[in-house]
Amino acid sequence: MGVVRTVAIVGGGVAGIAAAVRAADAGWRPILIETRTKLGGRATSFDDVRTGIELDNCQHVVMGCCTNILELYDRLGVLGEIDWHETLWFARANGASDALSIAPLLPAPLHYGPSFARMKLFTLGEKLAISRAFIAILRMGPRGRLRWQGRAFGEFLAQTRQPARVVELFWDPVVLSACNLPSARCEAAHALKVFDDGMLAHRFAGAVGVSRVPLARLYNAAEEIIVRAGGELRLRTSAKALAFDGARITGVVCDDGVVGAQAVISAVPPDRLAKLSSDTLRVHDKRLAHLDEFAFSPILGVHLAMKRRVMQTANLALPGRATHWLFAHDGAGAGATDGFVQHIEAVVSTADA
Ligand SMILES: Cc1cc2nc3c(=O)[nH]c(=O)nc-3n(C[C@H](O)[C@H](O)[C@H](O)COP(=O)(O)OP(=O)(O)OC[C@H]3O[C@@H](n4cnc5c(N)ncnc54)[C@H](O)[C@@H]3O)c2cc1C
Repeated sequence: MGVVRTVAIVGGGVAGIAAAVRAADAGWRPILIETRTKLGGRATSFDDVRTGIELDNCQHVVMGCCTNILELYDRLGVLGEIDWHETLWFARANGASDALSIAPLLPAPLHYGPSFARMKLFTLGEKLAISRAFIAILRMGPRGRLRWQGRAFGEFLAQTRQPARVVELFWDPVVLSACNLPSARCEAAHALKVFDDGMLAHRFAGAVGVSRVPLARLYNAAEEIIVRAGGELRLRTSAKALAFDGARITGVVCDDGVVGAQAVISAVPPDRLAKLSSDTLRVHDKRLAHLDEFAFSPILGVHLAMKRRVMQTANLALPGRATHWLFAHDGAGAGATDGFVQHIEAVVSTADA
């Protein structure tokens, strides 16, 4: 048997958990270092002191095309905790809504065709415009997307002659929720990938998965996998710096001592990684040169505890409104203990204002 090598992973969000589990499966000894008391980072839960309910930071959804996170859920044995929805609801005026559903028998990319044709939110002319853009996306394929790198998705929408109302009510709601930026500011290559991979690739790609348990519970099995590989989960431990001997990174300096390792994986956001990297290291490793150039775009989640059932659908997009999506959770997970029968999570993307 070879020597078991240690990998230190900084950050116990989804990326850090996935790295630790993969490293364990590949025969490494992972040491996962996380500042907070719980795993999950931005995709986790907290105990709300007022209601006593375990709430998620914000509604998170996965899609059928999110193969990496689904593989992780599978490895953690929690794939069965995800409820799948094949219909997205788009609000019109006066409380009415349109369904965008995966048709049972039609193959991709025709599977949204019948429900899209029935949507009353858009006129026939607007539907033809949307179809024109989808045909352009299908024609260009993943290679064609590369040509759109560094350009705004708004440029693609202008090139395919999308009316302003269609941008506001169709393209923006999807791009905002997937990329957290409006079409005018989102890089075209990223937005095109959302529509290509998430709507056109295969029938299940656009199915929306919602956890029926608080997000933090999805990661329960991670510690056992790490420990079984001889590793450690170090919660409440902050990395202070990457240990660098002038030639290579040799471990992580934490608030409670140094973790020596043959490899280090950073799974923290770029601004945090910048703080962990000394000037010498940043000069030495060109990958760290541009960490200060990342900008951030906030998302706001609002939890509404309702004493009666106000939403009849599991989700609702609110095109053209300040709040972009609503997700309804019924039953015990909705805090039924306090007489609340429905818990609605409202999501405001690009919440800078
Ligand atoms: C409100 C909101 C809604 C979202 N909705 C969706 C969605 O529906 N679908 C989707 O796919 N994505 C969604 N996202 C994005 C998704 O949450 C993130 O992409 C993902 O959680 C990022 O995971 P990560 O592990 O890369 O980083 P993070 O989750 O940021 O994890 C980094 C971890 O590092 C820890 N850390 C930082 N510094 C240190 C240090 N010095 N030492 C030790 N630990 C440290 C932090 O505590 C944190 O736990 C949403 C994000 C937000 C904020």
